[in-house]
Amino acid sequence: METNSPKRVNFGFNFNNSYLTLPPVFYKRQTPSPVKNPKITLLNSALANSLGLAADQIEQNGAAYLSGNSIFSGAEPIAQAYAGHQFGGFNMLGDGRAILLGEHITPNGQRVDIQLKGSGITPYSRSGDGRAALGPMLREYIISEAMAALGIATTRSLAVTTTGEYVYRDAAYPGAILTRVAASHIRVGTFQYAAALQKPQHLQSLADYVIHRHFPEITDSDDKYLQLLNRVIDLQAALIAQWMNVGFIHGVMNTDNMSICGETIDYGPCAFMNTYHPETVFSSIDTNGRYAFGNQPNIAHWNLIRLAESLLPLIDPSEEQAIEMVTISLQAFPGKFFAFWLGGMRKKLGLFNEEAEDQQLAEALLTYMQNNKADFTNTFSLLGNVALQAQGIFKDEAFKQWFSQWQSRLARQAQPIADSIKLMQTVNPKLIPRNNLVEEVLSAAVNSDDMAPLNDLLSAIADPYSDADRPAKYTQAPAQEVDQQYKTFCGT
Ligand code: AMP
Ligand code: MG
Repeated sequence: METNSPKRVNFGFNFNNSYLTLPPVFYKRQTPSPVKNPKITLLNSALANSLGLAADQIEQNGAAYLSGNSIFSGAEPIAQAYAGHQFGGFNMLGDGRAILLGEHITPNGQRVDIQLKGSGITPYSRSGDGRAALGPMLREYIISEAMAALGIATTRSLAVTTTGEYVYRDAAYPGAILTRVAASHIRVGTFQYAAALQKPQHLQSLADYVIHRHFPEITDSDDKYLQLLNRVIDLQAALIAQWMNVGFIHGVMNTDNMSICGETIDYGPCAFMNTYHPETVFSSIDTNGRYAFGNQPNIAHWNLIRLAESLLPLIDPSEEQAIEMVTISLQAFPGKFFAFWLGGMRKKLGLFNEEAEDQQLAEALLTYMQNNKADFTNTFSLLGNVALQAQGIFKDEAFKQWFSQWQSRLARQAQPIADSIKLMQTVNPKLIPRNNLVEEVLSAAVNSDDMAPLNDLLSAIADPYSDADRPAKYTQAPAQEVDQQYKTFCGT
């Protein structure tokens, strides 16, 4: 008798491709283009197992599949159509270098997209080569997994597979394919695409599909399309507040890079802020600071207005009436964002209850950090670490003033300081994937074929709130000159 547990066939995949029920204008069937010599260079076994996939089988035999040379049984590869405002200008887009293999249903019934990014040209590739370079794919893996560990909604990275081919940008780079897992890849730009088709039935199909897939609780509402807008507004308000609470800069918040289900998506020129300043921009292409750290809530609002415009025909037959209705919803965004943000700041400061002056208390700390070029992550992390409070900013007069205001505030709540410290430790990360560290490990991986530093960094960021001892290089802020010169690139 067979005593071992049964081998999971098909690597554990269980595809059910509901996107294909949409009108065919929403996608083109497209198989990935074969690559020369696929090798899995990074596999997220923990994620694979949590999705009900057989990590060991993928590791042994999966390279052909994760490169697109072979197709998992049940996958029905497509490229998705979408549009988007890129830096404010509208374009028809679509998956130009990504292919959706299909939707996997996990053992607990969760539906996730499985996408290959960098898998060859599609009908939406325009002049692009459909490929991706190893560095940027490893970078997306690191940052998205860091975001997940921080507790922020995000697409996930299942694997990076090298292709054995070069891609040509400013120079030749090793090519790679990222296997991306997402609750879905439906974007604000997918609705803009549907609206641009000017066929109301297509727009309605998409909206009904999204409601069914992501917001089934509103299916029976009389005003379900307005509720759809409201749900996306709520999710984005919560998401952007979380970004702002950890110092994350997305870098390219085009409407095609904003997910309908509230996940952080499309990690290109993103980065974590070191020295606190709201005008911080790292992206080499964001020359006007449109997507600067402090501008992210405004841009999210702007993007949501584009979503609302797309939904107008579904919301009311009278455009005037529809505009009136969405305006009320949209006007609520700044307040909703602010409530999430302040709620996050209260936790970062160990506050359990609410006082009217909490906003001022939080903003005073940020102003102090800005004026004194303080490190965002370490300032909050040190606040919760009494043992380390003899150093750095804790000796500064202006900071001492703020500190005593904060101490009085803590004393006015019922909970003891020890509880506040515990609360703070659950939201103030000890470490983030700092730009200098990320560059260092990418350079070792890409230039020296050495994945060890990258894997070490991944283990460190997997547990960002723990008290565990870590090498100082993981928590040290980089020199300010280095930080100021740091630039990120799209890598497309
Ligand atoms: P992104 O800036 O990554 O959000 O991409 C914007 C658009 O350009 C999307 O439609 C992408 O699919 C497309 N794109 C980016 N890089 C490439 C590439 N190398 N080949 C083809 N299309 C690309
Ligand atoms: Mg994109």
